[in-house]
Amino acid sequence: MIGSDEEMSSFSSNHFTLEKISENVYAAIAKEGSGSVANAGFVQLGNAVLVFDTFNTQQASEDLKHVAEAVTNLPVKWVVNSHWHGDHIRGNQTFKGSTIISSENTFTTMQENHPSRIKKQRDDLQGLTDYIESLSKKQEGVNTNQITFLREIEKSLPTLELVLPNQTFKGELKFHGTNCHARLFTLGGGHSVCDAMMYIPEERVLFMGDLLFVDCHPTILEESNIYDWHAILIQVENLDIDTVIPGHGSVGTKDDLTKLIQYFEEILVIAKQDRELDELVIPHAYKAWTSSEFFLKNIKVLREFER
Ligand SMILES: [Zn+2]
Repeated sequence: MIGSDEEMSSFSSNHFTLEKISENVYAAIAKEGSGSVANAGFVQLGNAVLVFDTFNTQQASEDLKHVAEAVTNLPVKWVVNSHWHGDHIRGNQTFKGSTIISSENTFTTMQENHPSRIKKQRDDLQGLTDYIESLSKKQEGVNTNQITFLREIEKSLPTLELVLPNQTFKGELKFHGTNCHARLFTLGGGHSVCDAMMYIPEERVLFMGDLLFVDCHPTILEESNIYDWHAILIQVENLDIDTVIPGHGSVGTKDDLTKLIQYFEEILVIAKQDRELDELVIPHAYKAWTSSEFFLKNIKVLREFER
């Protein structure tokens, strides 16, 4: 029999690195400039596997399905979508044979937004190809990660299919496995209109989707509500957890949750100051965080929100 450690050590994907977090929990951490964009992961419940989020493309989710089944020797029975954003759901088609689950709100928002969005992208596939060409020809200031990220989208579009969840929940849903159990729950929206998390209490691990960013600036969007987001993080801080798997950035601990809570508190104060954007600097504590362009973008969104 092929051991799971062997499968893990021989596995490699262009899209993510696989990390064993605890006895039954694995995190798939996105590689920059690939077809994943966001993080995902899976839980070996004992009798079946539960996958959390499906990346930005089917190329990335195919690798995820392959490794989840190879490492556990079990089929993927359930797939969860944490929220409606493309980088967490566009790989769903790989898991057509599984039960795909999201909250009611996430389902409705996916159904409303993705068909036209995907159609528009597919109709302008040539435009994307031309744009990638023009980026590749540039001599300076080109981010190669941006090019490879766009190439993965270009590759996915011809066969991309929107696969919606076929089961929804409100509040929470529990999965009882023979190894451990998982609690899928939502406390409403913060980052998006509705964000779900998955807690594995026996192993003190929490998958947080985009409610958590580790060592990178979070994306506060027009649909985000920073006050609700902050309140959700405060509630989550009370859970018995050692490890948190964010939607973006590396695997973290409760300290990373606390850091994001502080970031929100500081950025709200800064946003309310009567100063122009070009006078603002990133506070020292977040200087090393990646996606620094989001610092000013976040402030802009907050100022609009307050208006
Ligand atoms: Zn998101």
